[in-house]
Amino acid sequence: MSLTVSTDIPHGNAADLHVRTDGDVPEVSFSPSPKGGPEALWFCFRICETEPDGSTGGRILLTLNNFQNLLGAGLPSDLYPAYQPAGQGWRRMSAGAGSTCRDGRVSVSWPLPHPAPYTDVALCYPSGRDELATLLSRSKGYWKKSAIGVSGDGQPLLRLSNDDGAPGGRRAGLYLVARQHAGETPGSWVLEGVLQRLSSIKRDPFLVWVVPHADPDGIERGHYGKDTFPHDMNRAWGDPPMRHETLVYQRDIARWRERCKPALGIDFHAPGACESDGIYCYLPSPEDHPEMHRAAEKWANVMQQALGPQYAAEDFRRVARYRSRWETPTFMSYLAGEPGICALSIETPYSKIGRTVLTHKHYREIGQRIARGLMQKAG
Ligand SMILES: [Zn+2]
Repeated sequence: MSLTVSTDIPHGNAADLHVRTDGDVPEVSFSPSPKGGPEALWFCFRICETEPDGSTGGRILLTLNNFQNLLGAGLPSDLYPAYQPAGQGWRRMSAGAGSTCRDGRVSVSWPLPHPAPYTDVALCYPSGRDELATLLSRSKGYWKKSAIGVSGDGQPLLRLSNDDGAPGGRRAGLYLVARQHAGETPGSWVLEGVLQRLSSIKRDPFLVWVVPHADPDGIERGHYGKDTFPHDMNRAWGDPPMRHETLVYQRDIARWRERCKPALGIDFHAPGACESDGIYCYLPSPEDHPEMHRAAEKWANVMQQALGPQYAAEDFRRVARYRSRWETPTFMSYLAGEPGICALSIETPYSKIGRTVLTHKHYREIGQRIARGLMQKAG
């Protein structure tokens, strides 16, 4: 038996990696790396078994150390990371168990099947360039891809659209954004469901422009991205913008505005690690943007109805009152400000809603339901 671990895979992230083989069951332990940011949560790495000899008994143990340092660390039993045995699809681990050291630190362990020749593990189903390419090929040309600028690292910033529109256009406009926080992959899977649904109907009522990977550099490097340096992307929407990416998106939004009747901006996120009450929205603040708050409430209501109690949190419409490291504008407050465009953000959990552990299929269905709500309101 020879177990090794590597973060040299797409979206790779793990630190303090150790392999122990002196117990009953071999154990791989790690901590998610903050990669220079203040918060840690996203992890993704490969466990290889180069000399399988049956001595692991078909199981290893995956242990996340210092669980309490994660953003949104609640009940360890609410976190169901994903894994992918070589050549197979991603699936969820079975329930984990927390254990408390004598000094109060908590670690969480999940049993994993034998990894030969290798198994990838991640906080949630990864989604990056390959998944976007699959989405585009499945849409059979419905979504057109344009490079609207470059990231801090010089990667193309991609925007999808169902139509270019033309200046003075009167079609209702949607501007969708995901992965401002790179590790929040549930946002991508839900967005995929939205785009699938919009592309499958006969007459899409909207002019839809979409930024699927707002932070491609962070996605590539395995950043979690929440509050990351040099500036949280979703606090970099001021005038002047604090990141080149948000500068590019603001210019793109200006072009979109000219070509439609802006209806709504949506920003897809994922909440704290262990939140499992269901999907919810953040709306513009009623104090700062009372009109936009009321308009966003109406959009949120149709989404909540379309999602139903199976997916929507009871407390579905929220206003962010948590303490933020930056008070500078978000995508939502930027749109609600001078452009005067209604916007909201949607938070979809990493692991479960109630007792349902979320699969790819659930995420896509959630997106399809959100699209249904949007279309109903658009009439
Ligand atoms: Zn986020």
